[in-house]
Amino acid sequence: MILSKRMQALSESLTIAISTKAKEMKQQGRDVISFSAGEPDFDTPEVIKDAVKKALDKGCGKYTPIPGDPEVLKAIATKLKRDNNLDYKPSQIITNVGAKHSLFNIFQAVLNDGDEVIIPSPYWVSYPEMVKFSGGVPVFIEADDTTGFKISAEQLRAKITPKTKILCLNHPNNPSGAIYTKDELLAFGKVLKGTEILVVSDEIYEKLTYNGEFVAVASVSDDMFKRTITINGLSKCGAMPGWRFGYMASAIDELNSAVKKLQSQSTSNIASLVQCGAIASLLGQSDADIEFMKNEYKSRRDLAVQLINKIKGLSVPTPDGAFYLFVNCKAVEPDSMKFCTRLLEEANVACVPGVGFGMDGYFRISFATDKESLKKGIARIAEFVKNYR
Ligand code: PMP
Ligand code: GLU
Repeated sequence: MILSKRMQALSESLTIAISTKAKEMKQQGRDVISFSAGEPDFDTPEVIKDAVKKALDKGCGKYTPIPGDPEVLKAIATKLKRDNNLDYKPSQIITNVGAKHSLFNIFQAVLNDGDEVIIPSPYWVSYPEMVKFSGGVPVFIEADDTTGFKISAEQLRAKITPKTKILCLNHPNNPSGAIYTKDELLAFGKVLKGTEILVVSDEIYEKLTYNGEFVAVASVSDDMFKRTITINGLSKCGAMPGWRFGYMASAIDELNSAVKKLQSQSTSNIASLVQCGAIASLLGQSDADIEFMKNEYKSRRDLAVQLINKIKGLSVPTPDGAFYLFVNCKAVEPDSMKFCTRLLEEANVACVPGVGFGMDGYFRISFATDKESLKKGIARIAEFVKNYR
């Protein structure tokens, strides 16, 4: 076997696997409707395209410092202060090849074999795989639709052991859309106080909130600021998924130096041109742009929730944020992999099985797609469920 044990144990990303399969089926001429990828269907805004064209003409092809050009780091610091009330210095920020890369770097930099990482489930598919690849052990806390997909401070306390190194939070959540309130985050902070546990807070959906306000985890108290690594990027709220721009911000200098060192031996700086586009997005995206996107997603969400809840055997609460529905299908088929495989094969609709998010008996629909496709695809799901044997 040429592959390392570490590599042999790694699973493929289910979100990517299913969206790739749906694309291939479409290329083969099948009329597939894909609700699989969490990818905005909006085009990159014009201001960003213009900024990049200008940057190209000025000559923007040189290496930049490993964490990013000083201008992009300044733009991120400005954004974190303006939107999230977070006081990071540019020197505490590192740009990465998407938020996925930020997370990967952090787990690689801090985990020793056997270190535990607490992950509330349902979770985004990549967390446990990245943790295991880095030698860590994922420890899950289940929170299903009976608790609004949220864990409590008591559940968190019960999972902490001397080996706990990280608490991994993600809100607005992929796949459930759950958003924690400031009080709930403060309660987590109280549980962590006096420990050395780090918090990795994935805030990539921060602006996609429909009910309730988003509060950055690091902003709730000084103690949380010191232990939290804030992760964000432009794939979702900036509608720039293919640009691969993510970043991490942390007040832990030792960690920042380690990640810079890791990048100095792996990717070096992220693409210089992408950094120019990112500055335009971070500083130039207007409130009106965000409102437009949010209103559009909100009306798609309302349509999809209403249509799904009309289907006997399926149910979904209205999500507060992000652009996914995490639909309970236990009454039809508790095996979510079987449900989604048959749904794709027999009804030409691609959805992601809940088991990939750590929760069987559910499946995920991305509503980052146009209303006609939502109506057509959900009508196919209704027919499929009606005839399910
Ligand atoms: N975190 C969550 C919760 C996500 O849904 C995604 C989606 N890709 C990412 C991180 C990674 O985003 P990026 O495209 O910036 O790597
Ligand atoms: N995050 C998106 C999703 O959950 C994109 C695919 C991925 O990177 O996992 O579908």
